[in-house]
Amino acid sequence: MAVRNIVIIGDEVLRKTAEPVPRITKRISKLIKDMLDTMYAFDGVGLAAPQIGISKRIIVIDVGEGPLVLVNPVLLDSHGEEVDVEGCLSIPDKRFYIKRATHVEVSGLDEKGRAVRLEAEGLLARALQHEMDHLDGILIVDRMISEVAVSSGNEAVEEEGV
Ligand code: ZN
Repeated sequence: MAVRNIVIIGDEVLRKTAEPVPRITKRISKLIKDMLDTMYAFDGVGLAAPQIGISKRIIVIDVGEGPLVLVNPVLLDSHGEEVDVEGCLSIPDKRFYIKRATHVEVSGLDEKGRAVRLEAEGLLARALQHEMDHLDGILIVDRMISEVAVSSGNEAVEEEGV
């Protein structure tokens, strides 16, 4: 188990366009494992490689249904829109209202390099959009409608770092 450090907003790696992964080498497999370990260690529902300082197009997600790994993910289609609260492990202690598509269709490679295609809605769709944004240097502060006030005592808002 190897938990990596999370890169915090202000670091330029979070602003770069991440590089595609040409093939799943041993090194990439190890990186994916470390990303999963790191996501679980920090109680995130998702993590993108740039968040541990690696500018590669890899995301991991677990919305409570087991781990999902996507290498070189591509957004094929999206529809609907919904505003909900998001946090980000790279932006500690802050949450924002963000508008996202409610349904997405995404393709990419899994951790073995096999082509996958999936449709998602709800939290999984939101997490996919959030993590794919990281690969293009986009952070939730760029998309926020407004920040969730910390002093409001709004305990109904669940913390979900991604
Ligand atoms: Zn994030």
